[in-house]
Amino acid sequence: MSGGAAQALPGEQVHITTSPDTEPFWEAAKAGRLTACQCGNCGEFRMPPSPFCPNCQSKKVTWPELSGRATVFSFSVVHGFPGLEDIVLVAAVLDLDGAPGARLVSDIVGIDPDDVTIGMEVEAFFSPIADGWKLPLFRPVGSTATND
Ligand SMILES: [Zn+2]
Repeated sequence: MSGGAAQALPGEQVHITTSPDTEPFWEAAKAGRLTACQCGNCGEFRMPPSPFCPNCQSKKVTWPELSGRATVFSFSVVHGFPGLEDIVLVAAVLDLDGAPGARLVSDIVGIDPDDVTIGMEVEAFFSPIADGWKLPLFRPVGSTATND
């Protein structure tokens, strides 16, 4: 790995909590698919998932499979983490391709933080975390970087 490339936290340190609203997202990620919560009535996307559509109050939801591509809406570079002084994290807010209005907060890895720009295209990959789950992380399109 090149010296300054951004990483995400080691997977074994990442613990998630699922709820009935979020479990479809995590089950899809475990299977290597990126999805987002979409209203089954009016079609509006919403992330994070919630029980009611804020637009039409419907409780119907669908979970369409997305391409895994995303565009950087905003990001911040974080130097160091308790116990991991040398780590550099790029925490990004991402617009998900195929799900207008759905934004996901995740980390971008495999890139020098200085090279991350608003509007750049990234794509998801699925990195093992605690308890057998997988976390969608993002890397530049065409990159084969992982968080191992
Ligand atoms: Zn709706």
